[in-house]
Amino acid sequence: MRVHHLNCGSMRPLGGTLVDGSPGLFRPANIVCHVLVVEADDGLVLVDTGFGVADLTNPRTNLPAPFVALVRPVRDPSQAAVRQLAALGYAPGDVRHIVLTHLDLDHAGGLADFPDARVHVYGPELRAALTPATRGERQRYRQAHWAHEPKWETYEPVSGSAWMGFDGVRELAGLSSDFLLVPLAGHTRGHCGVAIQSSSGWLLHAGDAYFNRAEMQNPPSCPPGMRVFETLMQVDGDARRGNQERLRGITGEVRLFSAHDAEELHAFTE
Ligand SMILES: [Zn+2]
Repeated sequence: MRVHHLNCGSMRPLGGTLVDGSPGLFRPANIVCHVLVVEADDGLVLVDTGFGVADLTNPRTNLPAPFVALVRPVRDPSQAAVRQLAALGYAPGDVRHIVLTHLDLDHAGGLADFPDARVHVYGPELRAALTPATRGERQRYRQAHWAHEPKWETYEPVSGSAWMGFDGVRELAGLSSDFLLVPLAGHTRGHCGVAIQSSSGWLLHAGDAYFNRAEMQNPPSCPPGMRVFETLMQVDGDARRGNQERLRGITGEVRLFSAHDAEELHAFTE
């Protein structure tokens, strides 16, 4: 299976190395939305969507004001997945499935650009998004992103179905066993990773289970600005840290990456 790695939304928060860990303090940080396009047997499968055309056309109108002020998404609709796919010669209807790590605005923003796709999401995450319980959840989940009523495919927690040391792993309806939903709660109530067996081996898109590549090193570290953001956004710190520990134990047979680290994305696209 051929896998394309796209950036579907650049963000430029202030703070340089304090946020993204690359050299230079007096520059905006470079944050991406790492989206996968998988050429599967019966059509395209997206893993996450990044921001949508509407978000990137008018960030100030479509996204919460505190998020826009702090994270500074770049106004560039050509980064939306549907626009990048058009440049590759694909129509929106060619995307048959979308598998989401979670429903935060920077991961589910493009759903409305693919209204016919089946959208696979962990049940606890969909419930959190549709019935947000806190002010934080009302900010991070944008009801406009699913106002078109997607064809949801939901998965409830199970125990005992293990993959590479992770429990509760689910295969996905209508997709081959080369696609797996890997529960990694903590960032949100139903956050997951998505594993894909590509022609060059297993990939694991870890979503926002971690934010910076240095968090996967032994010993781990994290740029301080990103650590603050990560902690502010978590719903369960113990679960998040436990999952990071498990992710650090992943062996070389799985290629691991997160949603927002520009260097991790660059390693796939250079
Ligand atoms: Zn995110």
